[in-house]
Amino acid sequence: MPETNKYQYCMYNNEVLELHVLEEEFYKNQQVTRNKYRGQLLCPGCRQVRLSIHENSNSNSNSIYLAAYPNSHHTENCEYLLNSATKRELKVFYDQIAPDRAEQMLERILEDRVAVLNLPQNQNPNDDDVDEDDDGNYELTNENGTRKYLPRRSLQLRKMEESDHLVMYYGECRLFIAQDKWDNFYLRLFRNDETRYYLCSLKIPIVVFNYLRDELNFILCESDFDVNNSKEKSVPARIAFISTIEEKSLFFNGKITHSKLLKVIQL
Ligand SMILES: [Zn+2]
Repeated sequence: MPETNKYQYCMYNNEVLELHVLEEEFYKNQQVTRNKYRGQLLCPGCRQVRLSIHENSNSNSNSIYLAAYPNSHHTENCEYLLNSATKRELKVFYDQIAPDRAEQMLERILEDRVAVLNLPQNQNPNDDDVDEDDDGNYELTNENGTRKYLPRRSLQLRKMEESDHLVMYYGECRLFIAQDKWDNFYLRLFRNDETRYYLCSLKIPIVVFNYLRDELNFILCESDFDVNNSKEKSVPARIAFISTIEEKSLFFNGKITHSKLLKVIQL
Protein backbone atom coordinates (compact mmCIF):
# COMPACT_ATOMS: atom_id res chain seq x y z
CA MET A 1 0.00 0.00 0.00
CA PRO A 2 1.64 3.30 -1.02
CA GLU A 3 2.12 5.72 1.83
CA THR A 4 2.19 8.86 -0.29
CA ASN A 5 -1.08 10.06 1.24
CA LYS A 6 0.01 9.57 4.84
CA TYR A 7 0.47 13.21 5.86
CA GLN A 8 -2.38 15.48 4.78
CA TYR A 9 -1.01 18.26 6.95
CA CYS A 10 2.06 18.96 9.06
CA MET A 11 3.32 21.40 11.66
CA TYR A 12 5.31 24.48 10.67
CA ASN A 13 6.28 27.08 13.29
CA ASN A 14 3.81 25.44 15.71
CA GLU A 15 0.96 25.90 13.28
CA VAL A 16 -0.93 23.48 11.08
CA LEU A 17 0.10 23.62 7.44
CA GLU A 18 -2.26 21.77 5.11
CA LEU A 19 -0.65 19.69 2.37
CA HIS A 20 -2.82 21.30 -0.31
CA VAL A 21 -1.67 24.77 0.77
CA LEU A 22 1.95 23.64 0.66
CA GLU A 23 1.36 22.04 -2.74
CA GLU A 24 0.02 25.28 -4.17
CA GLU A 25 3.02 27.19 -2.88
CA PHE A 26 5.39 24.52 -4.19
CA TYR A 27 4.14 24.76 -7.76
CA LYS A 28 4.49 28.53 -7.73
CA ASN A 29 8.21 28.27 -6.96
CA GLN A 30 9.71 24.88 -6.19
CA GLN A 31 13.21 25.89 -5.12
CA VAL A 32 12.10 28.76 -2.90
CA THR A 33 9.53 26.51 -1.25
CA ARG A 34 12.04 23.70 -0.67
CA ASN A 35 14.53 26.12 0.91
CA LYS A 36 11.92 27.82 3.04
CA TYR A 37 10.67 24.60 4.63
CA ARG A 38 13.83 22.49 4.70
CA GLY A 39 14.09 20.94 8.17
CA GLN A 40 11.10 22.96 9.37
CA LEU A 41 8.17 20.61 8.76
CA LEU A 42 7.21 18.30 11.61
CA CYS A 43 4.97 15.26 12.00
CA PRO A 44 1.57 16.53 13.26
CA GLY A 45 1.24 13.55 15.61
CA CYS A 46 4.43 13.75 17.66
CA ARG A 47 6.15 16.91 16.41
CA GLN A 48 9.43 15.02 16.68
CA VAL A 49 9.93 13.63 13.21
CA ARG A 50 10.98 15.97 10.42
CA LEU A 51 9.20 15.70 7.07
CA SER A 52 10.49 16.47 3.61
CA ILE A 53 8.69 17.36 0.41
CA HIS A 54 8.64 14.81 -2.41
CA GLU A 55 7.11 14.94 -5.85
CA ASN A 56 4.92 12.05 -6.96
CA SER A 57 6.81 10.24 -9.69
CA ASN A 58 4.14 7.71 -10.61
CA SER A 59 2.08 10.23 -12.52
CA ASN A 60 2.52 13.37 -14.53
CA SER A 61 -0.05 15.05 -12.34
CA ASN A 62 2.31 17.44 -10.55
CA SER A 63 1.52 16.55 -6.99
CA ILE A 64 3.54 16.33 -3.82
CA TYR A 65 3.58 14.27 -0.65
CA LEU A 66 5.39 14.44 2.67
CA ALA A 67 7.66 11.70 4.03
CA ALA A 68 9.62 11.30 7.25
CA TYR A 69 13.38 11.76 7.17
CA PRO A 70 15.14 8.38 6.94
CA ASN A 71 16.00 6.81 10.32
CA SER A 72 13.72 9.16 12.23
CA HIS A 73 11.54 7.88 15.05
CA HIS A 74 7.99 8.83 15.97
CA THR A 75 7.10 8.76 19.66
CA GLU A 76 5.40 5.59 20.79
CA ASN A 77 1.90 7.07 20.84
CA CYS A 78 2.15 8.87 17.51
CA GLU A 79 -0.55 7.68 15.10
CA TYR A 80 1.82 8.19 12.16
CA LEU A 81 3.97 5.37 13.50
CA LEU A 82 1.34 2.97 12.22
CA ASN A 83 1.31 1.29 8.83
CA SER A 84 -1.56 1.77 6.45
CA ALA A 85 -4.39 -0.74 6.74
CA THR A 86 -4.64 -3.15 3.82
CA LYS A 87 -7.43 -3.12 1.25
CA ARG A 88 -9.14 -6.05 2.96
CA GLU A 89 -8.73 -4.64 6.49
CA LEU A 90 -10.32 -1.38 5.34
CA LYS A 91 -13.25 -3.22 3.76
CA VAL A 92 -13.93 -5.22 6.92
CA PHE A 93 -13.55 -2.16 9.15
CA TYR A 94 -15.90 0.10 7.20
CA ASP A 95 -18.45 -2.71 6.70
CA GLN A 96 -18.61 -3.22 10.44
CA ILE A 97 -18.17 0.31 11.78
CA ALA A 98 -21.11 1.54 13.88
CA PRO A 99 -22.94 4.44 12.19
CA ASP A 100 -22.33 6.68 15.25
CA ARG A 101 -18.61 6.11 15.19
CA ALA A 102 -18.45 6.65 11.42
CA GLU A 103 -20.34 9.91 11.78
CA GLN A 104 -18.00 11.08 14.56
CA MET A 105 -14.98 10.36 12.41
CA LEU A 106 -16.35 12.15 9.36
CA GLU A 107 -17.46 15.13 11.45
CA ARG A 108 -14.07 15.34 13.10
CA ILE A 109 -12.19 15.41 9.82
CA LEU A 110 -14.42 18.27 8.67
CA GLU A 111 -13.73 20.35 11.75
CA ASP A 112 -10.87 22.75 11.90
CA ARG A 113 -7.80 21.20 13.42
CA VAL A 114 -8.40 22.69 16.86
CA ALA A 115 -7.72 19.37 18.55
CA VAL A 116 -4.24 19.19 17.05
CA LEU A 117 -3.38 22.73 18.07
CA ASN A 118 -4.37 22.05 21.66
CA LEU A 119 -2.37 18.86 21.96
CA PRO A 120 0.40 19.38 24.51
CA GLN A 121 3.86 18.57 23.22
CA ASN A 122 5.41 15.24 24.18
CA GLN A 123 2.05 14.07 25.43
CA ASN A 124 2.35 10.90 27.42
CA PRO A 125 -1.15 9.69 28.11
CA ASN A 126 -2.10 7.21 30.79
CA ASP A 127 -4.17 4.12 30.00
CA ASP A 128 -7.52 5.91 30.17
CA ASP A 129 -6.41 8.44 27.61
CA VAL A 130 -5.21 5.70 25.28
CA ASP A 131 -8.71 4.25 25.19
CA GLU A 132 -10.09 7.64 24.31
CA ASP A 133 -7.49 8.15 21.62
CA ASP A 134 -8.39 4.89 19.95
CA ASP A 135 -11.91 6.18 19.52
CA GLY A 136 -10.93 9.53 18.14
CA ASN A 137 -7.99 8.59 15.96
CA TYR A 138 -8.17 7.46 12.38
CA GLU A 139 -7.05 3.93 12.99
CA LEU A 140 -8.26 0.36 13.21
CA THR A 141 -7.08 -2.71 15.06
CA ASN A 142 -6.92 -5.77 12.82
CA GLU A 143 -7.69 -9.37 13.79
CA ASN A 144 -4.11 -9.87 15.02
CA GLY A 145 -4.38 -6.90 17.35
CA THR A 146 -2.15 -4.70 15.18
CA ARG A 147 -3.10 -1.03 14.93
CA LYS A 148 -3.14 0.43 11.42
CA TYR A 149 -3.97 3.89 10.20
CA LEU A 150 -6.93 4.75 7.95
CA PRO A 151 -5.84 6.49 4.73
CA ARG A 152 -7.23 9.99 4.22
CA ARG A 153 -6.91 12.43 1.35
CA SER A 154 -7.88 16.07 1.01
CA LEU A 155 -10.14 16.96 -1.92
CA GLN A 156 -8.31 20.27 -2.08
CA LEU A 157 -5.11 18.72 -3.41
CA ARG A 158 -4.47 19.58 -7.05
CA LYS A 159 -5.56 16.27 -8.56
CA MET A 160 -7.76 13.33 -7.80
CA GLU A 161 -6.16 9.93 -8.13
CA GLU A 162 -7.39 6.38 -8.46
CA SER A 163 -7.60 4.20 -5.38
CA ASP A 164 -8.56 0.53 -5.28
CA HIS A 165 -8.82 0.65 -1.47
CA LEU A 166 -11.22 2.65 0.69
CA VAL A 167 -9.97 6.15 1.45
CA MET A 168 -11.53 8.89 3.58
CA TYR A 169 -11.82 11.98 1.35
CA TYR A 170 -12.67 15.36 2.81
CA GLY A 171 -12.69 19.05 2.13
CA GLU A 172 -14.57 22.01 0.77
CA CYS A 173 -16.16 21.74 -2.66
CA ARG A 174 -19.34 22.46 -4.65
CA LEU A 175 -22.07 19.86 -5.09
CA PHE A 176 -24.76 18.94 -7.57
CA ILE A 177 -26.89 15.80 -7.89
CA ALA A 178 -27.75 14.17 -11.22
CA GLN A 179 -30.45 11.50 -11.25
CA ASP A 180 -30.79 8.81 -13.91
CA LYS A 181 -34.00 7.05 -14.99
CA TRP A 182 -33.14 3.95 -12.95
CA ASP A 183 -33.20 5.97 -9.72
CA ASN A 184 -29.49 6.11 -9.21
CA PHE A 185 -28.15 9.38 -7.90
CA TYR A 186 -24.77 10.87 -8.76
CA LEU A 187 -23.32 13.40 -6.36
CA ARG A 188 -20.97 15.53 -8.45
CA LEU A 189 -18.11 17.33 -6.76
CA PHE A 190 -16.47 20.48 -8.12
CA ARG A 191 -13.67 22.55 -6.69
CA ASN A 192 -14.97 25.55 -4.78
CA ASP A 193 -12.97 28.19 -6.61
CA GLU A 194 -13.13 30.08 -9.90
CA THR A 195 -12.02 26.99 -11.90
CA ARG A 196 -14.87 24.81 -10.59
CA TYR A 197 -12.73 21.88 -11.66
CA TYR A 198 -14.71 18.61 -11.82
CA LEU A 199 -13.28 16.42 -9.05
CA CYS A 200 -15.39 13.29 -9.15
CA SER A 201 -18.85 11.75 -9.12
CA LEU A 202 -20.21 9.54 -6.36
CA LYS A 203 -22.87 7.03 -7.33
CA ILE A 204 -25.55 6.66 -4.66
CA PRO A 205 -28.14 3.89 -5.17
CA ILE A 206 -31.68 4.92 -4.19
CA VAL A 207 -31.77 2.56 -1.21
CA VAL A 208 -28.83 4.48 0.25
CA PHE A 209 -29.98 7.88 -1.03
CA ASN A 210 -33.28 7.56 0.84
CA TYR A 211 -31.39 7.71 4.14
CA LEU A 212 -29.52 10.82 2.99
CA ARG A 213 -32.39 12.85 1.54
CA ASP A 214 -32.67 15.26 4.47
CA GLU A 215 -28.95 15.85 4.69
CA LEU A 216 -28.64 16.48 0.95
CA ASN A 217 -31.84 18.45 0.40
CA PHE A 218 -30.04 21.79 -0.05
CA ILE A 219 -28.30 20.47 -3.17
CA LEU A 220 -30.02 20.80 -6.55
CA CYS A 221 -31.05 17.48 -8.04
CA GLU A 222 -31.92 17.20 -11.75
CA SER A 223 -32.11 14.56 -14.47
CA ASP A 224 -29.44 16.40 -16.41
CA PHE A 225 -25.96 14.99 -16.88
CA ASP A 226 -24.46 17.97 -18.68
CA VAL A 227 -21.29 18.79 -16.75
CA ASN A 228 -21.48 22.52 -17.43
CA ASN A 229 -25.02 22.66 -16.11
CA SER A 230 -23.98 20.76 -12.96
CA LYS A 231 -21.03 23.08 -12.50
CA GLU A 232 -23.15 26.19 -12.83
CA LYS A 233 -25.85 25.00 -10.43
CA SER A 234 -23.54 23.48 -7.82
CA VAL A 235 -23.65 24.79 -4.25
CA PRO A 236 -20.75 25.13 -1.77
CA ALA A 237 -20.42 22.56 1.00
CA ARG A 238 -18.01 20.62 3.12
CA ILE A 239 -17.97 16.92 2.48
CA ALA A 240 -16.36 13.81 3.92
CA PHE A 241 -16.89 10.34 2.51
CA ILE A 242 -15.32 6.92 2.29
CA SER A 243 -15.00 5.28 -1.11
CA THR A 244 -12.72 3.73 -3.66
CA ILE A 245 -12.07 5.89 -6.74
CA GLU A 246 -11.72 4.67 -10.31
CA GLU A 247 -10.82 6.65 -13.36
CA LYS A 248 -12.95 6.17 -16.46
CA SER A 249 -12.40 8.21 -19.62
CA LEU A 250 -10.73 11.01 -17.64
CA PHE A 251 -13.45 11.17 -14.99
CA PHE A 252 -13.11 9.92 -11.43
CA ASN A 253 -15.92 7.85 -9.96
CA GLY A 254 -16.68 6.59 -6.49
CA LYS A 255 -19.66 4.96 -4.82
CA ILE A 256 -21.41 5.47 -1.50
CA THR A 257 -22.36 1.97 -0.39
CA HIS A 258 -23.89 2.94 2.97
CA SER A 259 -25.32 6.20 4.27
CA LYS A 260 -22.92 6.11 7.24
CA LEU A 261 -20.00 6.65 4.85
CA LEU A 262 -21.02 10.15 3.76
CA LYS A 263 -21.30 13.43 5.67
CA VAL A 264 -22.22 16.75 4.07
CA ILE A 265 -22.40 20.17 5.69
CA GLN A 266 -23.89 23.15 3.90
CA LEU A 267 -21.62 26.21 3.75
ZN1 LIG B 1 4.97 11.32 14.51
